[in-house]
Amino acid sequence: MKKYLISACLLGLNTRYDGESNPETVFLEMVKTGEAIPFCPEQAGGLPTPRDPSEIIGGDGRDVLKGKARVITDKGQDVTEKFLKGAKETCKLAKLLGVDKAILKSKSPSCGCKCVYDGTFSGSLREGMGVTAAYLREHGINVIDSEQMPVKPLNN
Ligand code: SF4
Repeated sequence: MKKYLISACLLGLNTRYDGESNPETVFLEMVKTGEAIPFCPEQAGGLPTPRDPSEIIGGDGRDVLKGKARVITDKGQDVTEKFLKGAKETCKLAKLLGVDKAILKSKSPSCGCKCVYDGTFSGSLREGMGVTAAYLREHGINVIDSEQMPVKPLNN
């Protein structure tokens, strides 16, 4: 059976910055069948929940890995090192489990695979990846944006 790491908030675990989640039935089924293993890189990096929202300033997750961009909270705190730690911990878990695919929550500064918020805290998006998504891809793990999956939110 294929195994995936999966963003914990997609399963109803309240790991989001605001203490909420985005549960979707397709992902819950994957956990029940043993296909998906939940994780949250921001918690693994040592950030609390709830926490201040963060965005990437000066690029995307790939630029953060190159040292060309930073992750900053809406109060101006630099949390780049926590995001990098979370990315590394996530990759470590994937390697320990022999998992080479991850389904990641769209738009997150950690988990987004196709686009992320643009650093202005205005709700605007830019093309690019979150820090964990970029790190996993650099280390040979196939990352899939949650919006690429056929989903039906539980809350709607
Ligand atoms: Fe969900 Fe990823 Fe944000 Fe954790 S870091 S709450 S798993 S989107």
